[in-house]
Amino acid sequence: QGKAQGQGTVHFFDPTLAEAAQQRARLEAALRHALQQGQLLLHYQPQIRGSQPTGAEALVRWQHPERGLIPPAEFIPLAEACGLIVPLGQWVLEQACAVLAQWRQDPVLEALTLSVNVSAHQVQQPGFVLHLKQLLERSDCNPHRLKLELTESAFIGDEQTAIRAMTALRALGIRFSLDDFGTGYSSLRHLKRLPLDQIKIDQSFVRDLLDDPDDAAITQVITQLARNFGMEVMAEGVELPAQRSFLERLGCHAFQGYLFARPQPLPAFVAFCRQQLAAALPRGAPLAPGA
Ligand code: C2E
Ligand code: MG
Ligand code: MG
Ligand code: MG
Repeated sequence: QGKAQGQGTVHFFDPTLAEAAQQRARLEAALRHALQQGQLLLHYQPQIRGSQPTGAEALVRWQHPERGLIPPAEFIPLAEACGLIVPLGQWVLEQACAVLAQWRQDPVLEALTLSVNVSAHQVQQPGFVLHLKQLLERSDCNPHRLKLELTESAFIGDEQTAIRAMTALRALGIRFSLDDFGTGYSSLRHLKRLPLDQIKIDQSFVRDLLDDPDDAAITQVITQLARNFGMEVMAEGVELPAQRSFLERLGCHAFQGYLFARPQPLPAFVAFCRQQLAAALPRGAPLAPGA
């Protein structure tokens, strides 16, 4: 408060607002520093189809030297607001492509997909398609294994820009998923127009699925709609076997949630997949190196 009063230009504002602004500026500087200093890292959460892992979603975390591991909900909104999401998102894509390039060399991991969250600001960037194209070439990953998760916010405002970018990237083999489906606006219009391969039912509908008939009804409608459009349906936030079987009965194809595994560091995810996929090999089939 005292500080704000000393700086002539600030004293018109509510001191709590000034403090909030200062705190935000500090956090922004710290996040910029974190990105430069390599304090960001990715965790990988398995995605399941049938009973097998088919890939992972890459989820960013901030390993803060004092505060420990900070979840994305505490810094992604800020990154979006101050524009840092663009370099941050580019960093995530670079990591993801490097991982896919590694997996490509491994007969057990080669078929796994990696889903990356891409923010609306990123997709709307003029250089987005070109940068990603260059990254794919540079990293030598298989574009067919890369999936980009967009939310409906990517289509607010300039829908055509997003669709053009998606169309160009799909021609390279990249797949698209509509994340958090059902929580955005005018969902049905989007489902009809967008070049999508998958939709993800938001975890808020999955959470109370078994107790709340409204959530069950919403989930059923989303699943039917997506299936009728020829898209894969994935449910996120699946924690209970009963949720999974309910969703399976509705026709949901794929699952992600604590029931299968939490987001985890890369080596743990790879170990999880090797174990699950090796267990599924027919007896006598040759084991992959390292399995
Ligand atoms: P999201 O893309 O919808 O990711 C799913 C979130 O649900 C993740 O939270 C995941 O840890 C959590 N989750 C998965 N299974 C369960 C479950 O069974 N129960 C519960 N309660 N939660 C579950 P996380 O990792 O905290 O990420 C939160 C959000 O942050 C993501 O939501 C995404 O919107 C954003 N985010 C994460 N990484 C990135 C990134 O690299 N770029 C951008 N732009 N956004 C990101
Ligand atoms: Mg996601
Ligand atoms: Mg989601
Ligand atoms: Mg979500």
